[in-house]
Amino acid sequence: MTAAMPIPELEAGWRRFRSGRYREQRRLFDQMAREGQRPHTLMVACCDSRVDPAILFDCDPGELFVVRNVANLVPPCEVDDGGPHTSFHGTSAAIEFGISVLAVDHIVVLGHSQCGGIRALIEGIPAAFGPMPFLSSWIALADEARERAFAADPEPARLATICEQLAIGLSLRNLRTFPAVRDRIAAGRLSLHGLHYDLRDGALSLLDVDLGRFVAVDGGDADA
Ligand SMILES: [Zn+2]
Repeated sequence: MTAAMPIPELEAGWRRFRSGRYREQRRLFDQMAREGQRPHTLMVACCDSRVDPAILFDCDPGELFVVRNVANLVPPCEVDDGGPHTSFHGTSAAIEFGISVLAVDHIVVLGHSQCGGIRALIEGIPAAFGPMPFLSSWIALADEARERAFAADPEPARLATICEQLAIGLSLRNLRTFPAVRDRIAAGRLSLHGLHYDLRDGALSLLDVDLGRFVAVDGGDADA
């Protein structure tokens, strides 16, 4: 007995994968199944369907340990008291696993242009969507980025980009509140990076910590 895939697009894609990449890279898949994963990078990316890290960075399976959430935010390290109101810290759990078990070399916070989560942070969630208590409390994590973006008084067209980039900086700061992250950085075994991807032209920029701003990454010219 076999099951029919309920989503035709996914069935067709899985068949292409199984007869294409899976077959071509069979040795890699088999090795990873036997030996486990050893990703070099933990990436915090947005849920946005247009910003798939493995596609953007042309990675093989096994390279990226990815946690995706709305607006690619990292919360500060918060320890529950174990009481009845214990929260469920999905992103923090992924960070803990990536650091303590997988011992990744890098953590990247990948933001992007036209981020719906950041737009909701700036403009508020439209009332037409009805109450969205989870989303509103989640994006409130980046309130400081919104306040600083408005305080910078940019041209309106730049406001979203600035807020997206400030939120990346805020997440990098929150990463350092995790003791395991701090310890690995101090030991020279982990580095943190902020990247911003522009959907409109495929360009990438990197947060230069010394300059305090994002700088275009050279190369990768789509028209070359
Ligand atoms: Zn987004």
